[in-house]
Amino acid sequence: MTTTPDLTPLARLASGCEIHLPGDPGYDAARTPWNLAVDQRPAAVAVPHTPAEVQAVVRAAAEAGLRVAPQSSGHGAAPLTEGALDDVVLVRMHALTGVTVDPDARTARVLGGTLWADVVTAAAPHGLTVLHGSAPDVAVAGYLLGGGLSFYGRQHGLAVNALRAVEVVTADGTLRRASATEEPELFWAVRGGGGNFGVVVAFELDLLPYADVYAGMLLWDRDRAPEVVRAWVEWSRTAPDSATTSLRVMSFPPLPELPPFLSGRDIVVVDGAILESDEDAAAVLAPLRALEPEMDTFGRIPATALLQVHMDPPGPSPAVGDHSVLGSLDEAAIEVFLEQVGPGTRSGLMFAELRQLGGAFAVPAAGGGALSHVPGEYALFCVAMAPTPQAAVAGRAATFTVVRALGAWSRTSLVPTFAETKVDASRFYDGEDWVRLCRARDAADPDRLFVANHGI
Ligand SMILES: Cc1cc2nc3c(=O)[nH]c(=O)nc-3n(C[C@H](O)[C@H](O)[C@H](O)COP(=O)(O)OP(=O)(O)OC[C@H]3O[C@@H](n4cnc5c(N)ncnc54)[C@H](O)[C@@H]3O)c2cc1C
Repeated sequence: MTTTPDLTPLARLASGCEIHLPGDPGYDAARTPWNLAVDQRPAAVAVPHTPAEVQAVVRAAAEAGLRVAPQSSGHGAAPLTEGALDDVVLVRMHALTGVTVDPDARTARVLGGTLWADVVTAAAPHGLTVLHGSAPDVAVAGYLLGGGLSFYGRQHGLAVNALRAVEVVTADGTLRRASATEEPELFWAVRGGGGNFGVVVAFELDLLPYADVYAGMLLWDRDRAPEVVRAWVEWSRTAPDSATTSLRVMSFPPLPELPPFLSGRDIVVVDGAILESDEDAAAVLAPLRALEPEMDTFGRIPATALLQVHMDPPGPSPAVGDHSVLGSLDEAAIEVFLEQVGPGTRSGLMFAELRQLGGAFAVPAAGGGALSHVPGEYALFCVAMAPTPQAAVAGRAATFTVVRALGAWSRTSLVPTFAETKVDASRFYDGEDWVRLCRARDAADPDRLFVANHGI
């Protein structure tokens, strides 16, 4: 028998904090995440504007016997809703944003709901940038706390390793600062354990000294996939750590809002960044350019423009995805990949991506947190558009099919930010780190107040 939660403590807050309860006019807009395929229906949605409001919401939720799920953009909402949310207060962080850059220290202080585009924009006037991901409107929080695969990453490692401190509201409603020297176990656990440990209201992170970057994309018709995939896999085996790229086989419906090089087309795209001089970067890229792409946008661009290179959707979209981490890809693996998504196939996917790992991604960071590296050679990420529930079912089946087909080359590890389904979270961490993380969770949140998209 389910009991209806007593929302009185939250309703009391409503005069001082933005709270939306089911049936309120603002509830539907407030509960809608970036991923429009996700229909999340929490007991209440809180939209705090200050850290003090976050504290008040956490205390009121605990008093009401409810749980608390922090969420910033909702890009990573899908695994969260695989469990019922009828006893959960969703804490949407989009009203708590802002960036302050300290150019001398080469750091930024970023409020808990900020998007990456705003951090990149604030750092750029100082000739600095940051370990952001491919999309401008992904939030700092979920990406950073889940590791964060950046196009700067094979040189500089997982984005989470750039964190110097967090300010986090924990299960007792206290606002704590955690760093290498303050609450070090909490700092260790949050870096990878994310929303299981509290609501992060501010981050301090290191910036990178790049005002511009050699980056772009190469594009071919999908008919060229057999030679392009083979050449890129071969190239990626010996590419320097300064290069971080992705290969995607993509299919687009004929839509007037798409540019002609995408509309109605099946293509294969290699994109990313190469942290070298123009001359050295061109030399690194030469074996791929030798395949004479129909488009080649690689060149020196402002660091801010790297957020556009991957052509991610410009706004909220409905999608489903699946993921695995792959080891070395031999000829048999390439054949399977091409059988699934190569010329003549109808995979049902919008794209199948192989994101280059290795380099600094694979190296445990000195002084790092629960998640500081990812073993493996490639992150496989398959995505299908899901504008209707029926399309979501078909899309999920399509993404599973490709991931399963490459099962023989899969590693046990997974990357939290690419895991779009509920998975065994122990697969994100090394064995002893998982044990330590579970102990840290027991100590910090014994009553399991917090609900994360990937639970510990
Ligand atoms: C178009 C697109 C492009 C992407 N590109 C990349 C990429 O290049 N590299 C990469 O690694 N990933 C990438 N991702 C995946 C993305 O990083 C994850 O979906 C990530 O979880 C998004 O974080 P968010 O805060 O925006 O999402 P949310 O769904 O808001 O958050 C995800 C989880 O993070 C935690 N969380 C969020 N906010 C807080 C907070 N303030 N305090 C505590 N916990 C919090 C919660 O546990 C929450 O369930 C991409 C996703 C999409 C859809």
